[in-house]
Amino acid sequence: MVAWKVIRPIKKLPNLQIHRKLTIIPIVLCVGLSGCDYLLEPIEEGPPSLPTPVETTTPEPDVTETPTVTASPEPTPDEVNPEIPSDGDTSSSEEIVPEPLPSSTPIPEPTPVPQIEAVFEYFPPGDLEPNSGYGAVDPTIYVPDMVFPIKSAPAYPQSQVYRFGGGIGGGDQCDERNFEIAWRDNFCENRTRSTTSPYCPSQGVHVGQDIRVGTPQGCMAERRLLPEERLRYEVIAAEDGYISNIGRYTVNVRAGGRIYRYMHMNMAALQVTLGQEVKAGDVLGYVSNDFGGTPTTLHLHFEIKHNTAEHGWTWAPPYTSLVKAYERREQAPGEMVEAN
Ligand SMILES: [Zn+2]
Repeated sequence: MVAWKVIRPIKKLPNLQIHRKLTIIPIVLCVGLSGCDYLLEPIEEGPPSLPTPVETTTPEPDVTETPTVTASPEPTPDEVNPEIPSDGDTSSSEEIVPEPLPSSTPIPEPTPVPQIEAVFEYFPPGDLEPNSGYGAVDPTIYVPDMVFPIKSAPAYPQSQVYRFGGGIGGGDQCDERNFEIAWRDNFCENRTRSTTSPYCPSQGVHVGQDIRVGTPQGCMAERRLLPEERLRYEVIAAEDGYISNIGRYTVNVRAGGRIYRYMHMNMAALQVTLGQEVKAGDVLGYVSNDFGGTPTTLHLHFEIKHNTAEHGWTWAPPYTSLVKAYERREQAPGEMVEAN
């Protein structure tokens, strides 16, 4: 306040030299005082060095605000970086021109990067087809690095009994609605046989996951062929191991502490023999409906049996491992949808 009173009379003086000398004093005096802003204002006419920092500090907050508006996660800093040199250029040419900067920064560019769309939908683990039993509500991924057992075709894990074309569901297995619905767990699904798993709430259950494969058109084309001619959809090994058993309609791959069991492949066109070593991804055979003389629907039945201290050898819920494996195969996420 004292400094302010000193300036005013000086400003009225016609002699500019005296004016400059005297203004230095109040500036020194006002260091640390809240009234400094008033002092700097009149000096704008004279020395250009003082106002420069004041004006250049104003546009900077605008620039820092721009990235926060996009709010996109990691890619934003990478894309903003290449533009920093252009900011440096304008700051070196100095002053004014602060507002074109935010508008020149292309904000929409980072948006396409995080655009990872879900390529399939799935009901939660343990949420079975209505009236088909009670599932294993268990989010554990028992084989996190497993390879999806179908090489490349679209796959739709779902019940083969309670959906279209099934013994209870009725209708046609190639019904396109079977190829549109979200994935659905059918481990623990009610069956009349005596198989059971400690992970299932009830006994007499389905201890694997049924996987419908391909398209409705593929389904119709396959069913017109003789069983031994079906070579359309390749079935592959889920893990490194060896062929430990081949039954009438089953193939087992033994891999360390696990046994993968594949059912209903085209047994006339198997690509492996008993005892053969296989690598994850090796073709074992082709999707079909072999069931020991009684055909089933065209699908792959897939099981994971593992050996645990608690339960010994037993069937593990394969659904969550299949979800993860399919996401890896497709290099895109699945989206869990509401249970109903
Ligand atoms: Zn099955």
